[in-house]
Amino acid sequence: MQRHLITSAIPYINGIKHLGNLIGSQLPADLYARYQRARGNEVLFLCATDEHGTPAELAAAKAGKPVAEYCAEMHAVQAKIADGFGLSFDHFGRSSSPQNHTLTQHFAGRLADAGLIREVSEKQVYSNADGRYLPDRYIEGTCPNCGYDKARGDQCENCTKQLDPTDLIDPRSAISGSTDLEVRETKHLYLRQSALKDDLNAWIDSKSDWPVLTTSIAKKWLHDGDGLQDRGITRDLDWGIPVRRGDDEWPGMEGKVFYVWFDAPIEYIACAGEWSDANDGADWERWWRTDKGAADVRYTQFMGKDNVPFHTLSFPATILGSGEPWKMVDHLKSFNYLNYDGGQFSTSQGRGVFMDQALDILPSDYWRWWLLSNCPETSDSEFTWELFQQGVNKDLADVLGNFVSRVTKFCRTKFGETVPEGAEFGQRETELLADLDTRIARYCGFMDAMEVRKSAQELRAIWVAGNEYLQAAAPWATIKEDEAQAAMQIRLGLNLISLYAALSSPFIPDAAKALQKAMRIDEQNWPVDAKSATSLLRPGHAFSVPDNLFAKITDEQRENWQEQFSGVRT
Ligand SMILES: [Zn+2]
Repeated sequence: MQRHLITSAIPYINGIKHLGNLIGSQLPADLYARYQRARGNEVLFLCATDEHGTPAELAAAKAGKPVAEYCAEMHAVQAKIADGFGLSFDHFGRSSSPQNHTLTQHFAGRLADAGLIREVSEKQVYSNADGRYLPDRYIEGTCPNCGYDKARGDQCENCTKQLDPTDLIDPRSAISGSTDLEVRETKHLYLRQSALKDDLNAWIDSKSDWPVLTTSIAKKWLHDGDGLQDRGITRDLDWGIPVRRGDDEWPGMEGKVFYVWFDAPIEYIACAGEWSDANDGADWERWWRTDKGAADVRYTQFMGKDNVPFHTLSFPATILGSGEPWKMVDHLKSFNYLNYDGGQFSTSQGRGVFMDQALDILPSDYWRWWLLSNCPETSDSEFTWELFQQGVNKDLADVLGNFVSRVTKFCRTKFGETVPEGAEFGQRETELLADLDTRIARYCGFMDAMEVRKSAQELRAIWVAGNEYLQAAAPWATIKEDEAQAAMQIRLGLNLISLYAALSSPFIPDAAKALQKAMRIDEQNWPVDAKSATSLLRPGHAFSVPDNLFAKITDEQRENWQEQFSGVRT
C-alpha cells in the first residue's frame, strides 16, 4: 500500500472562488485523492483557507465586520461550497488556526537560530487617519510621469511606470482618502533566501522527474539577474500571526505580524495538526516528519502556474533553512488558466461563473466532468456555454447515461430486475474484454501520472466501447432468435455498468454512487481486469433501473445562462 500526502493550493479568504480557481488546483487534487483511495492506498488530502493580509482586512471592513469574524464566516461558506463539489478533503483548515500560529513562530525561530533572518530598517508610509501603515498599493496619488491622478504607490497603471510611494504627488490613503500621511522608519525581518540558493539548487537538481516547465521557472528565479532575493517576512498589521521567535518574544518586533506569504504554506503542515485535533489526536507527524514515519510518503502539490515559484523556492527555503526533517514535495502538478467566454475569469471584477452559482444551476458532477475533461493542462483552455453544453450532453447524457438506461430498461422489460443467466461469453465478448483490459491499464497509467485530460479521454473511450458493443450485439434483435444469447449480452451490459461506476468514481462521484446503489453494490474494489470485473454481478443478483442519470442541457437553458452570466457579479 502506498501513502499519498496531497495538498491543493489554499484559496484566499476574501470571497467565493470562480470555476477557474476550482479547476486550477482543488478539483484535480480531489480527482487524484479519490483515485488513490479507490486503488486502496492511504491518503491524507489537505486544503485550507488563506486568511491573512491586507485584502482580508479590507474585505472585512467593506462587510462591516471584525476581520476574525469575517474570516470565520467566509471559511464556513467556502467549506460548504467545497463540500457541494464533492471535494474530499480529509481536513479543510484555516491559516489563522492556533496550530499555524505555533508552527509559523517555530519556523521563524529555527531560521533565526540558523542565522537565516536579518533585520532591515525601512521607511514606510503611515496613515494617521487610518491608524495603520499602508502597503504601497494602498497609497494613491498623481503620477509624476504622466499626470494620471489615480496612480498607485507601486505602479502607475496608466503609463505602467514602476513607482515608490514617495514619488507620488499629493499622496493619499486608498482606504480612507486621507492625506494625513507621514513616512516612518520601521524594522522588518527578511528571510535570507540568497544564502539558501545552493541548497535549493541542489534540491531542484535532484528532481529529475519534474516537468521542464517547473524546473525552468524555478531556475529562472534562482539564477536570473542578481539571483534569488531575500524576502521580507513581516508586516505592520494587526491581523496575522504575531512575530515571535519560537516561544519567545522577539525584541523590536512588538506589534508586528508575519507576512502572509510566509505563514500560508506552513499551513499545509499545520493543517495536518488541525486534522489530528479534529480526529482524536491522529498521528499527523507520520505524514510530515521523515524521522517519524513519513519517509515512505509521496507528497504531491497541486497549484496554478503562477504559484510555482512560491512552491519550488519560497516554501522549500523555509523548510530547508529550518534544518529539520520535514517532508518536502515530491511532485508538483501545475495548471494554466481557464478563460471565460473570450476573456478572463475575474474575482475582483465579478466576471464568470462562481462556485456557488454553478451549484445553484446544475449538480456538481456536470461541472466536475466538463472542467476536468477540459482542464487547462498544457495550455490555457476556454469555458463557453456552447462547449459546456456539448461536452455534458455528448459524454454524460448520450454516452454514459444512455448506455445505462438502455441496458437496465431492456433487462427490466424482458428478464425482470435481476441479472439474467444466459449463455457463456463468445468471441465478441472476449474481444471487448481484451480491449477493456488495454484501456483500463492505460487509464490507470494516466491517472497515476496525473494526466487529467488523457485520463478523461480514456474513461470516455471505455464508456464508448460499451455502447459500441451494445449496438453490435443488439440484444433487442438477438432475443427474437436466441434468448440465452440475449440474456448473456445483457448480463455483460449490467456488469459493465458496475465497472463504469468504479472507474468513473474519481471524476463523477455522485453518479458513480447512484449507479452502485441501482446495481445494489455495497463495496467495490478497483477493477484490475475486465474479466473478473464483469463477473461481479452474478445471475439472480437484483438491481433497479436508476433514475435518469444526466438530463441534457437544453438550448433554452444554455441561452438563459449565457444571458445571466454575461455581466458582472456585484
Ligand atoms: Zn503615469
